[in-house]
Amino acid sequence: MPGSKPGPLDELLKAARAASRSAYCPYSKFHVGAAVRAGGRVFTGANVENASYGLTICAERTAAFAAVLAGASRIEAVAISCADIPEGADPSLAMPCGACRQVLAEFAGPETPIVVDRAGIFTLVELLPMAFRLREGCPESRGGGAGAAGPTPASPRRPSRE
Ligand code: ZN
Repeated sequence: MPGSKPGPLDELLKAARAASRSAYCPYSKFHVGAAVRAGGRVFTGANVENASYGLTICAERTAAFAAVLAGASRIEAVAISCADIPEGADPSLAMPCGACRQVLAEFAGPETPIVVDRAGIFTLVELLPMAFRLREGCPESRGGGAGAAGPTPASPRRPSRE
């Protein structure tokens, strides 16, 4: 970041910025790029919109799915960039949506760094505390995967039945 030597997260952010140029976004005009490092490789994605808005998919998910389809399902770091956000705008415009946070939680551990261009560096657990997980039946959640390493919420308080 400013004043320091470029590190792996800077390189990932550069890849996300470059990927944003591939976005298909005729409706929002928000070119979003994402890059994930998985298995030591970088996979990129961009948002792909649809006239039926609900079918639109975000950059973060296209990048994550590209990694998974290439056989690299353990995401080690994430970068997200949208150059179309006006200078001085609310940084929440740059943050990943809830759906993308949940998808990342499937393939990334709680301490996975997520660099959001012009907003900061976060960990996955900061962005999605107490993520929904199906511990049974998910191969990724066994043997040190994201699910196994995730924080276990305290037992929920149940309302008493009297
Ligand atoms: Zn999203």
